[in-house]
Amino acid sequence: MSANRKCPICRKPRAAEHSPFCSSRCRDRDLVKWLDDGYAIPGERANLPSPKEEDEL
Ligand SMILES: [Zn+2]
Repeated sequence: MSANRKCPICRKPRAAEHSPFCSSRCRDRDLVKWLDDGYAIPGERANLPSPKEEDEL
């Protein structure tokens, strides 16, 4: 029963140091997602800096 041992963002095998994600990139992505969800201020949707988005999906 290890079906959940995958990164919820990209479904790659996750890394222990970034659990439950596979990388800091996916962790950031998830963080951004809920930040965007909970802390979104109308009229102030700043472009979040995404330095490297070269994730091979
Ligand atoms: Zn991932």
